[in-house]
Amino acid sequence: MNSFKKEAVDYIDKHSNIFTEVSDQIWATPELSLKEYRSAALYEKVLEENGFTVEKEIDGIETAFTGTFGHGKPVIGILGEFDALSGLSQKKGQVKHKPLVPGAPGHGCGHNMLGAGALAAAFAIKDYLETSGREGTVIFYGCPGEEGGAAKAFMARDNIWYSLDAALTWHPEDVNEVKTGTNNSTIQILYDFHGISAHAAGDPEDGRSALDAVELMNTGVQYLREHMTSDCRIHYAITDAGGVSPNVVQDHASVLYMVRAGKVRACVDLLKRVDKIAQGAALMTETSYDRTFIDGTADLVPNFTLENVFYENFKELGVPAYTEKELDFAQKLRDTCPVNEAPGFASTLSDEIREFTAKASKNGTKAMNDFLVPLYHSNAFQAGSTDVGDVSWETPTAQIHVAGFVSGAPGHSWQNVSCGGTTIGHKALLHAGKVIACTAIDLYEDPELLKEAQKEFREKTKSGYVCPIEKDAKPFAL
Ligand SMILES: [Zn+2]
Ligand SMILES: [Zn+2]
Repeated sequence: MNSFKKEAVDYIDKHSNIFTEVSDQIWATPELSLKEYRSAALYEKVLEENGFTVEKEIDGIETAFTGTFGHGKPVIGILGEFDALSGLSQKKGQVKHKPLVPGAPGHGCGHNMLGAGALAAAFAIKDYLETSGREGTVIFYGCPGEEGGAAKAFMARDNIWYSLDAALTWHPEDVNEVKTGTNNSTIQILYDFHGISAHAAGDPEDGRSALDAVELMNTGVQYLREHMTSDCRIHYAITDAGGVSPNVVQDHASVLYMVRAGKVRACVDLLKRVDKIAQGAALMTETSYDRTFIDGTADLVPNFTLENVFYENFKELGVPAYTEKELDFAQKLRDTCPVNEAPGFASTLSDEIREFTAKASKNGTKAMNDFLVPLYHSNAFQAGSTDVGDVSWETPTAQIHVAGFVSGAPGHSWQNVSCGGTTIGHKALLHAGKVIACTAIDLYEDPELLKEAQKEFREKTKSGYVCPIEKDAKPFAL
């Protein structure tokens, strides 16, 4: 390891309390998407206190911000998230489901760790830029609304990520790996139908049912499902059934649609067909409707060059090690989770890697997956969506996963809230900070690496970025 990287690792160890305290504080005050006022204020304060220039309300989004240090190129962005999930309140360090505040939100996706680990990386990069005297800029992006709202995609619509030479981030998972492959694109639209109320028996001929419109729309979409490619999905939720009285013609009813496709271009096209069905439903029922754009995300463009750099650094730094006490807790928590016999995305694609991870995880029974999944590059599709996808259409982007959850832990679970608030979570975020910082140092030190990453990026994005966010849409928290 070169001296700059050693210094970065030492820096994070020496200042670890700053990052673990941020994570613990965010964990203790979970806030939902686009309402992360206290979380954003905490990050802004810590960044300002430590010599970053802070810009608030980026792109007109109240809880989006940046912390910038350095000057000139290359400009490397580190993406941090900090929103929580509703109904997932959970006491930390527990192996049973025990809400801290019943009904309150909780950090079931580990974004308390995510933001704090990204912050650690940004701080260590700042230290590197200062001590090395190299030209370059680091920008920490406070990205709100990942669980709903897709702030990064709104920022992409407004061309924010084009100013970066690369973007790096991570996500806590139950495994240590360099993320590869792509995710699907998704768009959410709320259709609010308006009809005319009437006595359902007395003068039904005067009524125009908004609920009928919702039902006909759902029926129309049901027929559409047969005529779309197999990578597509269409989900819906009736968010307003128009009341609970069957003897009233419902003059209002709403349905929220979520359209998914492997590629963002196809997702936008599929949505146009769903829109036609909404029009048809309104026409059939003589109702009208308001259409509200909620959010959308593009598919992810993987960058194998950056994945390589990430992997070399991850391999050199190893994986977090645990105390017996941590492992004892993790084992008991693991026993409440399903068994994933071969963890890691690459295990689903490669027999060789599946064999490796099955052995290393003792067929998924180990408390923590304390190994690094071998490097694997893929354009394969992993179900689920992230607004990191939109960043990846505007600048070369890569991510790692660090084990901050016990083996087999389901996503968005109380188990993740419990674990993410403990020293296992601390270890994950500090380790992620180190791997990201060392990877960034390679990119500042070796311009050829960035050139190669950018060449790959240009090739993979030559079809052009179709932004899933509509022109006049504003971020919307459901
Ligand atoms: Zn999540
Ligand atoms: Zn997440």
